[in-house]
Amino acid sequence: MSVDFKHILYGGDYNPNQWPEEVWEEDMRYFDKARINSATINVFSWAKIQPEEDRYDFEELDKIVDLLSKNHKDIVMATSTGALPAWMVRKYPEVARTDYDGKHHKFGQRHNACPNSPVFQKYSARLAEKLAERYGHSDRVVCWHISNEYGGECYCENCEQAFRKWLKKKYETLENLNKAWNTEFWGHTIYDWDEIVLPNALGDGLWDGNTAFAGISIDYRRFNSDSMLANYVGERDAIRKFDAATPITTNLMGTYKGLDYFKWAKEMDIISWDNYPSYDTPWSQTAMCHDLMRGLKDAPFMLMEQTPSQQNWQPYNSLKKPGQMRAQSYQTMAHGADTIQFFQLRRSVGGCEKFHGAVIAHAGTDNTRVFKEVAQLGGELEKLGGQILGSGSAAEVGIVFDWDNYWALEYTSGPNKDLKYVDQIHQYYRYFYSRNIPVDMISREADFSKYKIVVAPVLYMIHKGVAEALETYVKNGGILVTGFMSGIVGESDNVYLGGYPGPLRKMAGIWVEELDALAPEQKNTIQFADGEESFCNLVCDIMHLEGAETIAEYSSNFYAGTPCVTKNCFGQGTVYYVGTQLEKAGLEKILDTVTNQASVHSLVQETTALEVAVRRAENCDYYFLMNFSGEEVSAPKAFADKIDILTGETLTNQTVFRPYDVRIIKMQRQTDSRQ
Ligand SMILES: [Zn+2]
Repeated sequence: MSVDFKHILYGGDYNPNQWPEEVWEEDMRYFDKARINSATINVFSWAKIQPEEDRYDFEELDKIVDLLSKNHKDIVMATSTGALPAWMVRKYPEVARTDYDGKHHKFGQRHNACPNSPVFQKYSARLAEKLAERYGHSDRVVCWHISNEYGGECYCENCEQAFRKWLKKKYETLENLNKAWNTEFWGHTIYDWDEIVLPNALGDGLWDGNTAFAGISIDYRRFNSDSMLANYVGERDAIRKFDAATPITTNLMGTYKGLDYFKWAKEMDIISWDNYPSYDTPWSQTAMCHDLMRGLKDAPFMLMEQTPSQQNWQPYNSLKKPGQMRAQSYQTMAHGADTIQFFQLRRSVGGCEKFHGAVIAHAGTDNTRVFKEVAQLGGELEKLGGQILGSGSAAEVGIVFDWDNYWALEYTSGPNKDLKYVDQIHQYYRYFYSRNIPVDMISREADFSKYKIVVAPVLYMIHKGVAEALETYVKNGGILVTGFMSGIVGESDNVYLGGYPGPLRKMAGIWVEELDALAPEQKNTIQFADGEESFCNLVCDIMHLEGAETIAEYSSNFYAGTPCVTKNCFGQGTVYYVGTQLEKAGLEKILDTVTNQASVHSLVQETTALEVAVRRAENCDYYFLMNFSGEEVSAPKAFADKIDILTGETLTNQTVFRPYDVRIIKMQRQTDSRQ
């Protein structure tokens, strides 16, 4: 389903049920003033609309829908199932979760339902169905929003039984299961499906969430992700009984570890996500999350939530500086968003989010810095209209992101506890970001042939078919960059025997004999062929050449003189293998070589401190120029004489970008520059 909202949805979470009705009309006036054209409602109203097991009460929700409809606001209708009503937990304690330590929870918090509770499954789907029956016909309901920020785990009896069923379906026989989990280790052989227990602190848990059998824990992660996805699908299908066409989504959370979002994306009509960087999150990290969210379906996404000013739940909830929210919103659009939505529209009077920023502050006035900035952006987005909607990416570089690898790498015991999946991916992403080279974040199942360069860091777990696909890609002229902790295990976390990096060994032209781990205070030196030196740390592969050439070698430790970065010609293409974590300058030197070889260029020829990103429409490109550097930056010469479509201003060589300044340039495209 291709989703077209006709205009940029601008609005966010709106909870009028927390306020007396006389405030609602005032809200509508403020929304008009800020050019807010949509509201996400009913996110946490389960207790209100189903006050008892056999009674539903939509009176207040009807009023809210009428109010918004009368005021010509689009509605994103949530299903409310992200937080259980108290009566349900009291009557059916099984709907609450059991945590990693084995404690069964009482009523409280949110995101608190056991995904395998038959009671939860029944009532969540029934609620979604009733909502669709009542509101699915409304032209103002433009999107369904199921539950909220799915996540967490449950280790209850219901989940344990469901896990056994899930395993039976996957492995068919206990022989297969014992082999997959290598249960001969520590004498864990399973003789009956009912002997299988969930891998938590009461079972195979070791420390820091690690377990004695990573293979079991990875399967549990897959199972838990599937269980919650089944909840989503249950509600989605219930909505579809009464509403065949309105797009359905749920709000994701970027690089959140718990759920395999590529698998989820296949069941979602459009991706939406909540962007909450903290005061010190690098802009490259935020851009990477946006690209990942776009990559899930290779399509534009919704920014379902961001705060207009500050969060409340981080350790230090800094205000967004003047212009920052606007610039951040445009960065989101530049990387693929077709909506800009806030949490929330009016700030709560109580509860743990009362300090969470909102469009309308506790002062209850439009005479605030935040409101004025929201209104300015609203005016600009209204002027932009629908022209950018639906446009895509121009990336020639793909970076593989894979939740199975995320789980497997971080469950594995050794070699270095500081090895973190997202950090490894970001080190590569940051290079391309800093040079304004567009990147697609892609799954292990992606069509690699679309890219001149495929980067697959810490590709620790190699699934069936992936090595073959990468081999075909390289043979046909592609450039693959991979490195340490890659090609180590198969889908059940058992090692590929015969030398690392297993199925990648032939195309990489190297054999890794040992993996050294360096503590935070340790580092090794390396030397490039041209004599330049650099540092490395974390993990150091000790390897032998099998056809590859050395680009850099270690110059310290007992393995000094052995290769640490290599290049291998394979078919028409090339494999670069980076056998250690290089310091920034060292990695940049390698990736400069790679991008030169691939003729992959920056979107702007000259060096600039601006972030430049592009959205590619059918006949034109929209260049977003954004200043996140904190200092004044001159406009790149390539954009002199071009017109900023936000203001109509013509850029010149003298144009200066102040911090958080943004300009959008529309350029006609005669021929596809990728040809
Ligand atoms: Zn459970």
